[in-house]
Amino acid sequence: MKRFLIPDTVAGRIRLYSILMACLPLLFAIIVLFLVIRRDTMEDTRKALLEQAVSHKVFIEEWFRERQDDVKFLARTDAVRQGDLEASRQIFREFDKSHADISAVVMVGAHGKTTADSLNNTLVDVTDREYFIRARAGKPHVTKVLIGRTSGKPIIIFSHPVTRPDGSFGGLVFLASRLTAINQLMNNLRFGNTGETYILNREGYMLTESRYLDRLISEGRVTRSAIMEIKTTGRMIQDALAGRQPEGPYADYRGDAVLGASQWTKGGSWLIVSEIDYAEAVSNLHPFLLALLGGFAVTLFFLTPVLLRLGNSIAEPLERLNRITRDMAGGRFEPAGRRLTFKNAPREVEQLVETFTLMHTRVDATLRQLEEAAVTDQLTCLPNRRLLMKEGARLVSVAARANQPCSLFMIDIDHFKSINDTYGHVAGDRVLRQIAGVLKEVARSSDIVARYGGEEFAVVAPGADCVLARNLAERLRRAIAARTFNTDEHPLTCTVSIGIADSGSQVRFGADEYEDMLARADKALYQAKASGRDMVMGCGKNPADVTD
Ligand code: GH3
Ligand code: MG
Ligand code: MG
Repeated sequence: MKRFLIPDTVAGRIRLYSILMACLPLLFAIIVLFLVIRRDTMEDTRKALLEQAVSHKVFIEEWFRERQDDVKFLARTDAVRQGDLEASRQIFREFDKSHADISAVVMVGAHGKTTADSLNNTLVDVTDREYFIRARAGKPHVTKVLIGRTSGKPIIIFSHPVTRPDGSFGGLVFLASRLTAINQLMNNLRFGNTGETYILNREGYMLTESRYLDRLISEGRVTRSAIMEIKTTGRMIQDALAGRQPEGPYADYRGDAVLGASQWTKGGSWLIVSEIDYAEAVSNLHPFLLALLGGFAVTLFFLTPVLLRLGNSIAEPLERLNRITRDMAGGRFEPAGRRLTFKNAPREVEQLVETFTLMHTRVDATLRQLEEAAVTDQLTCLPNRRLLMKEGARLVSVAARANQPCSLFMIDIDHFKSINDTYGHVAGDRVLRQIAGVLKEVARSSDIVARYGGEEFAVVAPGADCVLARNLAERLRRAIAARTFNTDEHPLTCTVSIGIADSGSQVRFGADEYEDMLARADKALYQAKASGRDMVMGCGKNPADVTD
């Protein structure tokens, strides 16, 4: 299965996992902290809103009581009880004038028709009104919010029965009160910038003026007042009807998210709603959230370099080892003795690098030994036939390209078998080693002196033409003939026969010049043996060289 987003390098993974390990708990903490603080803030706000709603409730109930007391007071004045219309009208007018939110004070006779009025004296039959029916039963009455017939404004009618001095039913007095004072209260006591307090009836109709009236009018939701025109069926009224306070933000009558609290008043017929825009309520969390995120950013800022360093301290040595291993696989070795050092690498990685370096050095040395062993003759320590074939061919072709002469000698020890037979193979080996030493000693450093096999040697002498080659071969032959060789038993002498071939001749034997030279040198050697041994043959001057 393919793993998405997971880096495929050690460094990448260390970085990713360590950043995740650092970030996730931090982010988690920030989110939890933020949620807790947000919840507390909302809780505090709702508590304050509830307190406000309760204080409004106290005011409203007081206001109602006052109006009821007002109408009771008016119904009990002597003028009213005695049916003195003129005096009553006077009292009503004065009362009306001195009370801003009273729109009218009216007296109704026992017959159910208006008799005295604070405004004008229109005769209205109210026998069918609830308040008249109640007054006849001797009871005061308060209506619901009504829309005034003339003013179009919401009013509430407070009524009280009138009892004549003789104790009989004398009609009633009612006063129509505007909600001005309540509206003013709602407007004056507000919470924050977007706070709003309003009253709903049980059906969800708004009974007070909305502070967003202009907006509601421009949206076409109301015509000129929100009173009794706006109906809300949202969470607030639903929760209130169910006897709950709304939790968390909800949409108010405008459709905006708000926090709110409510209080029933007037025996459960009015609901005082106190709200504030959710955005404002939680706005004090913004600096807090910014501070948290800032802290997070700062942490990351300091953490990241540390994590990068950790990743690099492991990844860099691994990458380097990887490269060296690849080089080793391809046969390329770092220079011996070069130490790999890494700053800040963990101890395990350091140990790995150390062990690896040691292994590298050993493999390198072993390979070198093997390589050398592969081209060295074990007995004489001279280059062996393998090297002779490869390196000799190279020297011959280099000389040919440079237009330089090059010669090849084949050297064979005379009657070597009898040395073995007489003194034994160990003595024979010692002689072979000593002869090899003499050849190496006498030949030039630029020549290759190799053991061709058995008791035969070969010399490749670059730059040597026939004359030089014969001189050199003679020097070799004489040096050996003049030497006394040590065996365990007796000192002994021995001779060699040498066949020479020079380069530049027409290729007659073998596939190329070098093979041809080998064949010709061999032939010349055979001639030397045939001609009595301990002599040099080949390279033009000898008749043997041109045989066949
Ligand atoms: P010739 O003059 O014709 O070359 O006579 P020869 O005896 O040297 O030649 P022959 O080819 O008959 O014998 C070569 C001998 O060299 C036979 C073999 O035992 C001996 N020989 C070859 N390699 C070694 C070696 O590594 N150690 C010893 N001790 N003897 C060796
Ligand atoms: Mg031989
Ligand atoms: Mg021999």
